[in-house]
Amino acid sequence: MKSFLNRTDQWALFLNIMCLLLLPGDVRVRSQVGFESERRGSHPYLYVDFRGLVLAAPSTESVSPWGCRCCRPLSFQRRLAVSPSLLCPSSRLTLCFLDDDYAGQAKCMLRKVGSWDFDIFLFDRLTNGNSLATLTAHLFNQYGLIELFQLDVIKLYRFLVLIQEDYHSHNPYHNAVHAADVTQAMYCYLQEPQLSSSLTSCDILLGILAAATHDLDHPGVNQSFLIKTNHHLASLYQNTSVLENHHWRSAVGLLRQAGLLEHLPVEDRQNLEMRLGSLILATDISRQNEYLSQFRSHLDQDDLNLQNSAHRHLVLQMALKCADICNPCRPWELSKQWSGKVTEEFFNQGDIEKKHGLEVSPLCDRQLDTVPNIQTGKMY
Ligand SMILES: [Zn+2]
Repeated sequence: MKSFLNRTDQWALFLNIMCLLLLPGDVRVRSQVGFESERRGSHPYLYVDFRGLVLAAPSTESVSPWGCRCCRPLSFQRRLAVSPSLLCPSSRLTLCFLDDDYAGQAKCMLRKVGSWDFDIFLFDRLTNGNSLATLTAHLFNQYGLIELFQLDVIKLYRFLVLIQEDYHSHNPYHNAVHAADVTQAMYCYLQEPQLSSSLTSCDILLGILAAATHDLDHPGVNQSFLIKTNHHLASLYQNTSVLENHHWRSAVGLLRQAGLLEHLPVEDRQNLEMRLGSLILATDISRQNEYLSQFRSHLDQDDLNLQNSAHRHLVLQMALKCADICNPCRPWELSKQWSGKVTEEFFNQGDIEKKHGLEVSPLCDRQLDTVPNIQTGKMY
């Protein structure tokens, strides 16, 4: 589908939209319609309900068991989906004024987006909690993906807001800031000279999309928890890569809901969705050895050929896996903060397990475990 705006108009609109994302007022509006106050005081497990998850865009008019008009009780963004700002973003653009102090500093940081010491926590503060949407939009622009794939900027904006809001902000670790951090790390890897000279635009699009969506709708508990509590997602995915399958399906659902790729031929779209799944599924740490031995075998035989698309895909899988667990390799000040966050999430799971009389998972006991043993345990 051809866009209704020319490139200059699209780009001006895109910039305005990103300004809108940076507006404190926008954050305030969202918090008013969100679930934060309803969630307060309870843990994700107590209200996690993925049953509304379907690949097709669900109706926004359905009534939840809690009586509120939304299609997924946990999905804050489903209300956003029917907000006037998304249905008619141009109507708000004239009201949009950039906060020069913060946006200027955020823009300044983006000049060094390829640096390994990029402080994603600072960037998140400077963008009013919109680090994932802002960073991903910046990378799409930097690589010229909007033009190359003839993307509609309104749909792109809608998609980026949807994915950002589908991360659970109350998760200490698996939230949108982690996704933004992984996306930034992925960008660093994609910039590696040997790799960057071989990548196609499709590889880049998938690499960024996979990084941004790889933990979508993460409930803040791990797979073994879902299995031992007989969560329906564990049954749905037959106890195999339960979370990763859910992240992938959620990403596909949001891609379709936003209609971001709907102008592409069906085969291309399906191919992109499958490859996206293959990348996200590679982040399953329990299948680590599978990928490592495959990669090691290529290195041993010295037959890795980046002109071969299957080989490039394997390298992208490895890059995403590395980006996902790169926290300990970041500068100490950043690494230390991530350690605290992942520990807090593990302990929260342990607290729920104790509360429900379940066996406490390894490294999840706040009375027995410590930050150092969790870091060395590499559970996640
Ligand atoms: Zn992750």
